[in-house]
Order: sequence, then C-alpha cells, then structure tokens
Amino acid sequence: MIRATKSTIIKWIKITEVVDCSRNVCPCGDKLRRLLVTRPTSRYDEKNIINLIKSQEFKYHKCFKDF
Ligand SMILES: [Zn+2]
Repeated sequence: MIRATKSTIIKWIKITEVVDCSRNVCPCGDKLRRLLVTRPTSRYDEKNIINLIKSQEFKYHKCFKDF
C-alpha cells in the first residue's frame, strides 16, 4: 500500500514536468502523460507500464534534443 502511494506521488510530480514539444504532429509528450496516469491492474502490469514509461521517456527527451 505504501509503495503504491509513493509511486503515485512520484508519477504526479513527473507529470507536471512533461511539456509538449514544439512540433505540431509530435505526440510524445501526450503519450508520456497518458502512460504516467495509467493505473496498473497487477504487479506484472505495473512492471510493464514502468518499462513503457522508460522507453517513452527516452523518445521524449530525444525529441527535444533533435528539435
Ligand atoms: Zn515530440
């Protein structure tokens, strides 16, 4: 229970840091926010979502560098 609350707080802090990139057709910031608000339905699902967030975060930061 405590772990879940902690990770939820971390997610909320992170979500406020996600800003849209300046590209019109780039959905990377939006996609990352969607992943951050996704509620895992199981332990396995939680790991899966964390992995998706990590890879999306990488794409998100790469997008800003490329711009
Ligand atoms: Zn982008």
